[in-house]
Amino acid sequence: MENKLKIYNTLTRKKELFKPINPPHVGMYVCGPTVYGDAHLGHARPGITFDIVFRFLKHLGYKVRYVRNITDVGHLVDDADAGEDKIQKKARLEKLEPMEVVKYYTDRYHDNMRQLNMLPPSIEPTASGHIIEQIELVKKILANGYAYESDGSLYFDVEKYNKDYHYGKLSGRRIEDLMQNTRELAGQEEKRNAFDFALWKKTDPKHIMHWPSPWSEGYPGWHLECSAMGAKYLGETFDIHGGGMDLLFPHHESEIAQSNAATGHDPVKYWMHNNMITINGQKMGKSLNNFITLNEFFTGNHKALDRAYNPMTIRFFILQAHYRSTLDFSTDALKAAEKGMRKLFDAFNLLDELKPSATSTVDIRAIETKCYEAMKDDFNTPTAIAHLFDLSHNINQVNSGHEKLSQTDIDYTKKFFSIFLFDLLGLKDEKEKDNSQLIDHLMKTILEIRQEAKNKKDYATADLIRNELAEMSIQIKDTKEGAKWSFKL
Ligand code: ZN
Repeated sequence: MENKLKIYNTLTRKKELFKPINPPHVGMYVCGPTVYGDAHLGHARPGITFDIVFRFLKHLGYKVRYVRNITDVGHLVDDADAGEDKIQKKARLEKLEPMEVVKYYTDRYHDNMRQLNMLPPSIEPTASGHIIEQIELVKKILANGYAYESDGSLYFDVEKYNKDYHYGKLSGRRIEDLMQNTRELAGQEEKRNAFDFALWKKTDPKHIMHWPSPWSEGYPGWHLECSAMGAKYLGETFDIHGGGMDLLFPHHESEIAQSNAATGHDPVKYWMHNNMITINGQKMGKSLNNFITLNEFFTGNHKALDRAYNPMTIRFFILQAHYRSTLDFSTDALKAAEKGMRKLFDAFNLLDELKPSATSTVDIRAIETKCYEAMKDDFNTPTAIAHLFDLSHNINQVNSGHEKLSQTDIDYTKKFFSIFLFDLLGLKDEKEKDNSQLIDHLMKTILEIRQEAKNKKDYATADLIRNELAEMSIQIKDTKEGAKWSFKL
């Protein structure tokens, strides 16, 4: 398949021509959420970034198996090997079974991803559903000499591994620096080095989630699940592994180490990482308490928001930045995104009303080519969108008589514009839906006021309402079940 798609590979730090291992098949693994709270803007970005990759690869004709996991055990509060399991902590605080927490937040995550119009992944495996595979992987690492047991827990021997391979090749960190900078955490005495990471943790009495293993009753280390499930569903070496930049180290670095230690070769050909979102120039973080959940965006129920925002506005806002750039959130930026997206939809809808000319003065195919070139240049959605704005400008120029399009070109434009807007960028024009809900609500209120007036024998007001509505082409019919309204055709 010759398509000249270029992908920036975090591992080699350069853009590379995309050559899948086994075309037309493509295996893509993306680290999914740890389901112990509502999804926020920080979850929307990797979701949307890899939804675009998924959509575009499929559009190019690849058969993509997209695996996105759900972390439901093993992710400890401090992201290292100390502290409580994130899900278990939530379960304890809310007096729920850990799996109740998992189900509740997984459902809400799915709802949010659907609202953002993301295609569901091909497989969505959970860490707790793959304990056996994880134990098998630990056995291999142990047999190859890159792990050690310490009081029932197993740790990855980073120093030993680094003698044979290169720990830090993805993130660019040096083991010498890690030795100096990794802080010693309480309860870490079992480790030979502070930067060794857990493959299997012996359960302590507080831990509710645990499984039997050859070493102890316990649970897997966080990095292990992605290595085990990636290999299970995509093979020992697969094409694309994605996630947020925050996962580069230690999570993805450790995934590479685990796979090399078990199989002797790298697990992934192309590593892709989306950049972070800042809020009014500030990093999003637990300590800053500036997370805005997606549900809060969709309802407007957050002090930093002046109103509700449509999920499509969030999606377009994210697509207006390249996935490797940082993106700063503000309500002004959201409003600009909302306006911009409306412009594109209005131009698209205007295509139905254009008067065709015998010839065209706009080179539609040249714009289309530029859009594809942008997408093939490491999924450059902002540049593709800029060309679609250019297209929209041209459509408006045709409408005002300053440019011309033939019927053939109008039809062609409709096809390719729709492919980009709806299939590749995954946007939905929800204006009609939004308006109809609003109008319905307003009309109910107006008809109630009119009924109130009639009850008080205030026929002047009742008639005034009927006549005013008639001016707006809305007719009212009084029926036994009450007044009904409809648009006059
Ligand atoms: Zn992962």
